[in-house]
Amino acid sequence: MTTGRVIVVGSINLDLLYRVPHLPRPGETLLGAELVRLSGGKGGNQAHAAAKVAPAEVSVAMVGCVGDDDAATMLRGDLAAAGVDVSAVRSVAGPSGTALIAVDERGENTIVVIPGANATWPSAAATSIDLRPGDVVVLQLEVPFAVVEATVAGATAAGARVALNAAPLDRRVLPLLEHVDALIVNEIEARELFGFDVALGADDVAGTAADLDTALVVTLGARGVLFAPARGAAMTLPAFAVDAIDTVGAGDAFIGGFAAAWAAGGSLETAVRWGAAAGALTATVSGARHPDLTPAAVQALAGSLG
Ligand code: ADP
Repeated sequence: MTTGRVIVVGSINLDLLYRVPHLPRPGETLLGAELVRLSGGKGGNQAHAAAKVAPAEVSVAMVGCVGDDDAATMLRGDLAAAGVDVSAVRSVAGPSGTALIAVDERGENTIVVIPGANATWPSAAATSIDLRPGDVVVLQLEVPFAVVEATVAGATAAGARVALNAAPLDRRVLPLLEHVDALIVNEIEARELFGFDVALGADDVAGTAADLDTALVVTLGARGVLFAPARGAAMTLPAFAVDAIDTVGAGDAFIGGFAAAWAAGGSLETAVRWGAAAGALTATVSGARHPDLTPAAVQALAGSLG
């Protein structure tokens, strides 16, 4: 298999994270502490992780929209500093996407996302990179659905592979799945999309992958990953043992690691191992983006790209 590129098409947000003694009740005014500005968004986080762990022969590019505000400079700059090609990140008039994240003393959180630039995406931007066979196109569902549809169509026409992370869940993806090469969801999304019962099992995953003719990867948090190729038996991968302190962003890091290994020519199983290693390492730091992820660290945990 040829080595290709990872092209992430998706959301880029400014995360405004603040700590509060308890989550505010309606009408309540609280004194919070420690307001932190971080780069986020599912698309941005996934591109960041992919660039951090990609072997030298795999490049990572982001297609997305930021606003014309101060945040846009930071959002672009953080991706570029991680090694992401941001030349297809457009600036549109208005504010960048913003997520307001309140975290209380027990670690519970509430999140309000204001899509901003992510919602005002010119549809032409969906295909602003010429896709090639061997490319891995990574999509999530935080951008207008028309962009997702256009990107899947463009990738299919170009012979590129599509990895779709169906989050936040939107059932409109179901008819698109026949054009998707790998569907990656967490346990809750898998249940809601396919009606699996509580004891999600190998037969469910293998049967659904076969019905869809799509590799299906279900991430199970600290319990690891259950996955199946389009045709063949399901496999399980237990989570790598790490000292987890904050699992925020583990799912996005999983997608980034998966896509990097897949674009490098790794098998589905190798890609899942790299995803799980990137996810586990990201759970050892606070925040959604691990600043010091490296290909060597992921390889040490996951094994070679073989
Ligand atoms: P999401 O954030 O989308 O719900 P998960 O919580 O399932 O995603 O995490 C994605 C992957 O990251 C898991 O399948 C696992 O491989 C890895 N991971 C998550 N939490 C841990 C943990 N506590 N220890 C080790 N690996 C973890």
